[in-house]
Amino acid sequence: MKAAVLFETKGKLSVENVDISEPKKDEVLVKIKASGLCHTDWETMHGYQPVNLPAIIGHEGAGVVEAVGEGVDNVSVGDNVICSWNPNCGICFYCDNGQPILCEVQKKYNSQGVLFDGTTRASLNGQNLHYYSLVSTHAEYTIIPKQGAVKVRKDFPLDRASLLGCAVMTGYGGAVYAGNIKPETSVVVIGCGAVGLSAIQGARISGASKIIAVDIFDNKLEFAKKVGATHTINSKIDNPIEACLEITDGRGVDCAIESAGHNETIRQTLECSRPGARIVILGKTPYGVEINLPFYTLMGEREIIRTSYGKSHPRIDFPRLANLYMDGKLYLDEMITKTYKIEEINEGFDALERGELARGLVIF
Ligand SMILES: [Zn+2]
Ligand SMILES: [Zn+2]
Repeated sequence: MKAAVLFETKGKLSVENVDISEPKKDEVLVKIKASGLCHTDWETMHGYQPVNLPAIIGHEGAGVVEAVGEGVDNVSVGDNVICSWNPNCGICFYCDNGQPILCEVQKKYNSQGVLFDGTTRASLNGQNLHYYSLVSTHAEYTIIPKQGAVKVRKDFPLDRASLLGCAVMTGYGGAVYAGNIKPETSVVVIGCGAVGLSAIQGARISGASKIIAVDIFDNKLEFAKKVGATHTINSKIDNPIEACLEITDGRGVDCAIESAGHNETIRQTLECSRPGARIVILGKTPYGVEINLPFYTLMGEREIIRTSYGKSHPRIDFPRLANLYMDGKLYLDEMITKTYKIEEINEGFDALERGELARGLVIF
């Protein structure tokens, strides 16, 4: 099968014909239909996030179940599934504590780039290829733990479905679950990539009346308007802090969401918000980078939440988000800027780097 392999963190992928084995106990073989180009992949390709090499990367995919191993009873051959990169075990301390994103089993094996038996399923010329986020979706097929195969309704198009696997779940959950946004409140979203656009949608669906989108690219602010932003600010031209204060009668927003991953934008979320506001940080700086904040930005009470998957429970949330799309409330068509063949995947990441995409997808 064809797969995009990362050999070195020099920024490019190599499309190779790799071998894949059969699913073992509690594993699912998925024929991938679409795989999203996420900024985290780009960061990994450039050495900004840790990775075990060589690896098949990609962690935002959807497809059809091709085969199941012994003991799989949550999906069947032919089901449409979204791959969750949070295949939590269900019985560890954190799973029992209601925090599946922190699952100890998942964390242990993810950090080694292997499945739950400590091995991988794809190889190139006899060399094992590591997993990435326990899913590795930039490939024609992938074998994943059954906990990460989430069945969704058949009438939900799989290209749209793939977006739920990372960006949409993270942004929507960041707004709805972490941001706890209430009707008629004000929200700023700083950084309008796919995660930020999904946070804007979460704010809109929650009933926020003022949704302020901030970015340095005008095209992304246009995307933001299409999915629900009521105000847009190009922070290269206008000061986002002054603009947010003006829009909120000088008080600051009720909820500020950061989805850009810079020290400066994290500080801006604090400065744009009112005392007592909730701050949700979804972006991430390169691994090892420190951030600093003037202490006054913390004064007057603020709740700061950092979340990786929007406090989601993917097996519950993916089917719900599928319904929201099918009911016309969650806009996914507007999120897909361009599609690529697997052979064109580096072109897609170049376009992502240039800020041209809401989301780019590899279609198989
Ligand atoms: Zn991602
Ligand atoms: Zn667990």
